[in-house]
Amino acid sequence: MINNIPSQNFWGRFSRDAITQLSYLPRILHLVWQASKGYTLVWAILLVVNGLVPAAIVFLTKFLVDGLADVIGTGGSWDSARPLLIFGGLMASALLLTEVLNSAIEWVRTAQAELVQDHITTLVHDKSVAVDLAFYESADFHDRLERARSDANGQSIALLESGGGLIQNGITFLAMGALIIPYGWWLPFALLASALPAFYVVMHFSGRFYRWSRSTTTDRRWEDYYDMMLTDSRVAAELRLFSLGDHFKAAYRALRRRLRMEYLGLAKGQGLARIGAGSLALAVSGAAMAWIVWRALLGLMSLGEVVLFYQAFTRGQGLMRSLLNNIGQIYGNSLFIRDLFEFLELEPKIVEPLRPVQAPWVLKQGIRFRRVTFRYPGSERLALDDLDLVIPAGETVAVVGPNGAGKSTLIKLLCRFYDPVAGCIELDGIDIRELSIDELRRRITVLFQFPVLYHATAGQNIALGDTTGNPTAAEIEEAAWAAGAQEVISKLPRGYDTLLGKWFSEGTELSGGEWQRIALARAFVRKAPIIALDEPTSQMDSWAEIDWLDRFQTLVQSRTALIITHRFTTAMRADMIHVMDSGRIVESGSHDQLMAQGGLYARSWNAQMRSGVESHDPISSPPVAQDAYNGRVS
Ligand code: ATP
Repeated sequence: MINNIPSQNFWGRFSRDAITQLSYLPRILHLVWQASKGYTLVWAILLVVNGLVPAAIVFLTKFLVDGLADVIGTGGSWDSARPLLIFGGLMASALLLTEVLNSAIEWVRTAQAELVQDHITTLVHDKSVAVDLAFYESADFHDRLERARSDANGQSIALLESGGGLIQNGITFLAMGALIIPYGWWLPFALLASALPAFYVVMHFSGRFYRWSRSTTTDRRWEDYYDMMLTDSRVAAELRLFSLGDHFKAAYRALRRRLRMEYLGLAKGQGLARIGAGSLALAVSGAAMAWIVWRALLGLMSLGEVVLFYQAFTRGQGLMRSLLNNIGQIYGNSLFIRDLFEFLELEPKIVEPLRPVQAPWVLKQGIRFRRVTFRYPGSERLALDDLDLVIPAGETVAVVGPNGAGKSTLIKLLCRFYDPVAGCIELDGIDIRELSIDELRRRITVLFQFPVLYHATAGQNIALGDTTGNPTAAEIEEAAWAAGAQEVISKLPRGYDTLLGKWFSEGTELSGGEWQRIALARAFVRKAPIIALDEPTSQMDSWAEIDWLDRFQTLVQSRTALIITHRFTTAMRADMIHVMDSGRIVESGSHDQLMAQGGLYARSWNAQMRSGVESHDPISSPPVAQDAYNGRVS
């Protein structure tokens, strides 16, 4: 793969990239400033001071050496030794100051890095929550998220370090330059020439490392996936039963081996190039030193001056290399940080209307899907096809139909997670696109098909359904009762205060059906006029289902309810049943009307009965619409 990474036209690409990167620099600085104003200010001051101290040390060295030569020349008199002691004291102070400054900079930079990292993480979290659900369905989004989360975060800290190095080394270099210019105006240029090859190596490999990292983002997500499969508790049972451990371990190892080889290949190339660049720098350094020794032999320089020159030149050379290194690293870091800004620039397509209409708290007419057509992003297939559906205010409507008919999609569109391709959805005659998204969503409570299992106490698991309403203990208990979760909770070791899930100590695991009841209670605790339940009874046993259905009648009262179900026993209780197939409503009516029509619903019901379900205890074996439809299809 590395060989596929083009390394030609370096300067062309570099100048193009550098211009793009420059446009990001003010944003990066703004981001750092926003995150840690005080620390950034202190950091900059410390860097400037720390940049000047090395030049002062070199300068003092000259006086120390010359002073020492005087002391030796005068036979060690007290008068000649006094300046030596003063310079010695100053030198010791400067060295101590360097130590203090280095520690202070290190500490300030650590604090600053922590703040910047937290700030970036907050920005990434804000964006992840704000983007449309549709983003989560594109691999490209996950790649960007991965890059923003992992690469950009670490690189922002590295950028701070490189930027700090640039400032400090730049100042030291200028001061050193001022010291050596009196010995030859061309010396700073010799320093520059000696460091240029190293600069080229840094720039070249920064670009290559970045392109490699970008091109392997998906691979790294696969790596995370294999790792998760081997370590996640939700996978543990299947992994053992089907002996999938070796399969995922082999896949992980193979991927890691390839990525490691590619990375090491790049690192090797960089190492070799560095040796070449270093040798060139050494040659320049050797030539300069030979020249100065020759001048000293001619008696044109004092011993102190030779030492000063040697120190200034060799340190200057190191500094120049560090400086160009810093520039190269800043370039490399900002390449990665561009990914962060690209991610932060993602804009949701589901947006607020310019002038939102007030969403009704009490529905008078109800919900209407008006000729709604919808396909999921990136999909050719229509999930909803010119669909008309009315859910009258205060009534309970059930939607049944085979897998993939488009039932859950109705809820997703009602919540405006997506907008229809054609047609509209109305609440009391108002197109939901005219309502504030937040207001609309506060009018709806949903039990999703695959609800989230929160690692929180049973009480918190329910209360999370209404974070703005802050439900009281009585309201939580009422919701638990309505969902049939009260009995489950009463058996827990600490009742509502029991931590659910096994990730943390003292957590208690629940069965699938028990989790579902907790999630149902969460949906109920939200005081919303519209309630949408996707398979609310799918994991309930038959006794619990009947008990719950009785309660649901009282609970739903004046709410407008949409129930998606595969269980005919649940659907039967609704005021109206709609049968969906291939994104359309194909039949509508009460249970009796649909049976009388003798259509799809009746055939599915009868097929179920004929298949012997009716011979079972009707309580323990409720007819399941999904199976019945599948029977029809086959
Ligand atoms: P089930 O009874 O199995 O839950 P359903 O009737 O609820 O099915 P939907 O989940 O609404 O069906 O899906 C309708 C169609 O849209 C299906 O063909 C499905 O493959 C497709 N679909 C669902 N979710 C997505 C998605 N996120 N991206 C692309 N296609 C999707």
